[in-house]
Amino acid sequence: MPISSTPPDVITLQGGILVLPDRLITGGILEIGGGKIIALGGPGSGGESTDRELRGTIIDVSGRYVCPGFIDLHVHGGGVHGFDWQQPWSEWEQVARVHAAHGVTSLLATVPLPHDVHLLYEFRREVAGKEMTGSTILGLHLEGPYLSPVRRGCWPQSSLRLPRPDDCRALLQAAGPSLKVITLAPELPGAMECISLLKAAGVVVAMGHTDATYEQAVQAARAGVRRVTHLFNAMRGLHHREPGTAGAAMDLPGVMAEIICDGVHVHPAAMRLALRAKGVDGLNLVTDASPLAGAPDTTLEVPFGQFPVKVVNGACRAPDGSLAGSLLTLEQAVANATRFLEVPLWQAVRMASLNPARSLGIDDCKGSLETGKDADITVLDNDFGVEATFIGGRLVYVDPAAAGRYKPLNPPHHQSQQN
Ligand SMILES: [Zn+2]
Repeated sequence: MPISSTPPDVITLQGGILVLPDRLITGGILEIGGGKIIALGGPGSGGESTDRELRGTIIDVSGRYVCPGFIDLHVHGGGVHGFDWQQPWSEWEQVARVHAAHGVTSLLATVPLPHDVHLLYEFRREVAGKEMTGSTILGLHLEGPYLSPVRRGCWPQSSLRLPRPDDCRALLQAAGPSLKVITLAPELPGAMECISLLKAAGVVVAMGHTDATYEQAVQAARAGVRRVTHLFNAMRGLHHREPGTAGAAMDLPGVMAEIICDGVHVHPAAMRLALRAKGVDGLNLVTDASPLAGAPDTTLEVPFGQFPVKVVNGACRAPDGSLAGSLLTLEQAVANATRFLEVPLWQAVRMASLNPARSLGIDDCKGSLETGKDADITVLDNDFGVEATFIGGRLVYVDPAAAGRYKPLNPPHHQSQQN
C-alpha cells in the first residue's frame, strides 16, 4: 500500500535479525506506526522497506532478534503478584507489567472460577482487552472448577465441582467474550454436553487436570476439545496399552498441546517425543507462571489463591509439596526450547507467538511479523534476554542497560509516571 506521508508515530527498528515464522532475516528493517506493522524486509528478502528511505524515529537494534510479541495462554502470576480474585485489579496489572518485561505482549489471566460470579462482569468491564502499562490481558483461562479430583494437582478439593450445562450457561453469561479458554476433565459426568456448549459459544476447550483414558480423550476431541493443558502434567501418562490423555494428545492432530519448557515439569526427552509427534505447529510454549515467577526474591512465601507457595528444590510448591505453577518466564521458555527441543530460534518463537495466536483464532492480527498485524514486538539480545517490548506500537519495557538506544522513544517508566 503506498504511503504518501509519514504518520507521526512511526518507529523504524534498524539492523536487527527479524524472526519470521519460517526463517531469520539478518540486517532487517521493521517499520511500525499507528499501532501496526507497516513494512519489513532485509537484504535479499524482497521486503518492501528495503527499497525506500528509513522514516520516523530510528532505533538501532543491530544484532538483536526482533520477534513477534510472545503470547502466554497460561499465567497465574509473576513478580510476587497474582491473578487473584481477592486482590484489586491494580494487582492484576502488576502481573501484566512483570510479564511485559519478559517479552509477553498478550496473555490470558489463568484463574479458578471466582466464588462471586459478579467478579466476572467486573473483569470484563475493567480488565479484558484494555490498554495497560503491561501485557494486554486478552481474557480468562479458567483452570477449574471442572477438574478431576484425582488429578487436581495443587487445586483444593473444595474448589472442584461437576460440569452441569446450567452451570456452564451461567458462567458463559457472566464471562461473555472474556472467557477464552477453559481447562476441564472430559471424563467427568456431564462434561461432553458442556464441551459442546462452550465450544458453540466460541470458548477454546482444553483438557487438563484429567484422568481421562485414551478413548475418553479421543471422544472429547470429537466433542470439540482443541487443546491439552500442560501436556504430561496432571493427566494420565503414556502407557503402551493405555496411552492415556498424554498419548491421545500426541496422537490427535487437531489438538494443540501446551508444554511447560522449564526442565522441571517435563523431561527434555519427553518434550522431544511430543515435538516429533505434534510437529512445530502442534506445541504451544506456556509458563504456568506462579506469583514467584520473575520475582526478584524467591526466598519468599507468597499467596497463590487459597494457599501459600514457596520455592523448594528449584520449583514452586504448595504446602503439600505438589508443584504449584512454575518459576518460568516465557523468554526463558523460548531459550530453553532451543536447547531441550533442539529447534532453531524461529521455531521456538513460533511456539510462543503464532501457535497461541492460532489457538485463539487471533492470528489474523497477532502472532507473527507481517505487514498489517499489530505492532506487538519483542526484541531479544544475544543471550535471548528481553531488551525491549512494544505493544500496539508503544514501548512498554526496555532493559535499563539498553535504555540509551531507545531514548528517543521516552523510557516507559517516565510514561507510566505521567499516566
Ligand atoms: Zn496452571
